[in-house]
Amino acid sequence: MTDLELATSRTWAEIDLDALEHNAKTLRALLNPSAKFLAVVKANAYGHGSIECARKLQQFGADWLAVATIPEGITLRQNGITLPILCLGQTDTNLAPLMAEYEITQAVGDSQNAKALSDYVASAGKTLRIHIKVDTGMSRTGFYWPDDEAGKISVAREIYEVCNMTGLYAEGLFTHFAVADDDPEFTRLQLRKLLEAEKYLAGLGYKFEILHSAASVGVLNYPEAHLNMGRFGLVLYGYASTETGNEDSDLGLQPVMTVKSRITAVRNLPAGATISYGRTHTLKRDSVIAVLPIGYADGLHRVLSNNYGVKVHGAVCPVLGRVCMDMTMIDVTDIPGVMAGDVATIFDGELMPIAAKNAGTIIHELVCAPSMRVPRVYVENGIMRI
Ligand SMILES: *Cc1c(COP(=O)(O)O)cnc(C)c1O
Repeated sequence: MTDLELATSRTWAEIDLDALEHNAKTLRALLNPSAKFLAVVKANAYGHGSIECARKLQQFGADWLAVATIPEGITLRQNGITLPILCLGQTDTNLAPLMAEYEITQAVGDSQNAKALSDYVASAGKTLRIHIKVDTGMSRTGFYWPDDEAGKISVAREIYEVCNMTGLYAEGLFTHFAVADDDPEFTRLQLRKLLEAEKYLAGLGYKFEILHSAASVGVLNYPEAHLNMGRFGLVLYGYASTETGNEDSDLGLQPVMTVKSRITAVRNLPAGATISYGRTHTLKRDSVIAVLPIGYADGLHRVLSNNYGVKVHGAVCPVLGRVCMDMTMIDVTDIPGVMAGDVATIFDGELMPIAAKNAGTIIHELVCAPSMRVPRVYVENGIMRI
């Protein structure tokens, strides 16, 4: 048995690197030409495999990559990634030596954090690149930009001090939108606050090289928010909307991930049989039930029990009863000729938005869900490999 056969013997995620490249090209064309292209590959590239995706994006000509943690950045560096890497998450300052060693640019959202990084750098004789985060309304991390004049002056001074700390090079200033998908008024307010922070810093004599604000939906909806860099996450992986996928979009993005599962058994069960834990489904007719080797431990959320359908031979087959840790039952009564060994499509570009809706979540969470147990199989130049 080949490694590829082994990887596709149970449940796997097909990652179409050609689609990733297509999406990157499409998005690059939408971005203000003078702006840099940052590809977000945090969380194992949204579940798609960060090393392979980062390689493809580096080859494509992305300008920057972003991760959420320093270990994520180190993994990329150890696998031949030379692009600038921005760590978006705030990091324990004990990791400063690693930031320096692996040349990872760190987001900084408060003075204490900055001071601790600077102290390390001062003693080690090194320089760290940082991007200063401004909290303009997300209330997560960053220097909170206030509404009153005295407050603005004071926060600007605080940022200015950070920019001048020994060993820190403040290359960027950025913010993150809270409602880029559905509230133009608040989003524009957030953008104005970032630009105001920049202006106050310029007034103090500090100019940033890179000003950035927009993630996927922000780039699509607000050309004025492109500034010097767009941060592309979900759109790169093929979805224009976090909820509806590509339903209302004519961008032609191609979903990169398809999760598949190989049917382990096909069983004839009589009317009245009850399916799975909790006996939440009773067969109304004599039925043909296929058993799928995928469960919530693989990333098929249990909340989809009795509330989802997967594709077999192109037809949608309802999930019956509860999703178990490792197995799930579906109804294939109406699909002739289904056999053990046939492949079911669990998530693809069409199913992902339905799963998100039925699970009460967003596509971001679903693409991140396939677990360590699910091998990623890559398609590049039309050829499948592991
Ligand atoms: C995750 C993240 C992104 C990417 O978000 P998408 O909606 O997937 O494009 C961009 N910026 C920051 C700060 C993030 O944390």
